[in-house]
Order: sequence, then C-alpha cells, then structure tokens
Amino acid sequence: MSENFEIIKCPACQKEMTKVFVPSEGVNVDICLDGCGGIYFDNREFKYFDEQDENIEEIIKAVEGKTFNKVDGSLPRTCPVCGARMVKNYASVKKEVQIDECYSCGGKFLDHGELEKIRAQYATEEERSADIMKEVYDTVGVEIKRLEQENAELRAKRSWMKKLFDKMIYG
Ligand SMILES: [Zn+2]
Ligand SMILES: [Zn+2]
Repeated sequence: MSENFEIIKCPACQKEMTKVFVPSEGVNVDICLDGCGGIYFDNREFKYFDEQDENIEEIIKAVEGKTFNKVDGSLPRTCPVCGARMVKNYASVKKEVQIDECYSCGGKFLDHGELEKIRAQYATEEERSADIMKEVYDTVGVEIKRLEQENAELRAKRSWMKKLFDKMIYG
C-alpha cells in the first residue's frame, strides 16, 4: 500500500494528526502534534527513520518544545488508515521498545519518545541486520549443533561399516 494523503486521527488519542513532510525521503509522516505526540508511519516509511544515520530533523523540529498529553501505551489501538486492529510488537530483537503495527496495511504507530529510543539501539541498517542474524543463529544454533552431532555419529557408523565390509571381502 502506498502513502496516505488523508488527514488521519491519532490511534492513541483520536486527535487529528499533522502531516510533516520529510524532503530527504520524499514522504509525509503523520504526527499527533495537538495531542499525544505519537507518530504514524505508512507502510515502508519507518525503515527510513529507525537508525541513527538517518535524518529525522523535520520530525525533531516539529515536536521541539511542545508538551504532549500522556496516553496509555498498553491499550489496544486501531489503524487510522485501514481500520484494522493493530498488534503490539517489539521494534527490534533487543526487545526494549514495543510499537503498534498494522498487519493489514503495514502502518506503524510510535508513542512520543519511542522513535528516539529505537534509534538509539542501532547506528546503521548493517548493525540492525547483524543483530537479527545473531538472534536467528542463537535460535537455530541448538538445532545446528544437534545435526552436526548426528552427522558425526553417521560418519563414525559409515567408517565402521566400511571397515567391516573390507574385512569380509579382503579378509
Ligand atoms: Zn495522539
Ligand atoms: Zn492499517
């Protein structure tokens, strides 16, 4: 799904969100400037902003010096673009910050302050990918060890049988 151009309502506090244009990426992000300070990213937009080496100057300028209403981040939320129930997920394998994701249109909602926390986790996309690979390896590592063990046992069995056959054939 592509970018939304409608005025959408904040999934956390229902206030109308403000579109903030980010020229470096050529996209609009929706920020709840009159309410809770939450940010909604359309499908695929979020990856332009989630690491330290990416520019969020426009977002920082938009929220600078403002005070925002507190909202309960644990409440279920509805996607402001497509109306689907959003799902709470950790933003990375570090499991430190939970964000709301829409599996239907791919939108993501971050409470005020969460973007900074997420960006503090990784400097670059490469660092993020390396951490994901480590997590994957840790998870499947146990299985790989088991397979290697089995493989070693098979090899031992095969060499034992070969010796046995050699003995039967050549005496
Ligand atoms: Zn809000
Ligand atoms: Zn959606």
